[in-house]
Amino acid sequence: MKSRRNRGSKWGAEFQPLDLERVRIGVKRTELKRGVEYSVQTTSGARADDDKSWVCPNCHLGIAKGQSHTVAWDSVRGVDTRRHFHNACWKAFQGPLL
Ligand SMILES: [Zn+2]
Repeated sequence: MKSRRNRGSKWGAEFQPLDLERVRIGVKRTELKRGVEYSVQTTSGARADDDKSWVCPNCHLGIAKGQSHTVAWDSVRGVDTRRHFHNACWKAFQGPLL
């Protein structure tokens, strides 16, 4: 079910049970870029996947540990396509996600 924000019904009918993983990672939203729908989350970067380092596919620079950044993936192809972007890079990014 798509969540479209419905002004007027505050804590609306679409309340979902608390999902710990989702809370830890951040709030998920969807964005369209060139007709492709992406699922997008902003993360604090504080998640302790310590061995991981990410290279932003937009600028090809690393994302520092603890740096707030954006995780995005193709909604259709699924979470396996996810990439980590600098927040500004995600805004500039126009796809496609490889
Ligand atoms: Zn970047």
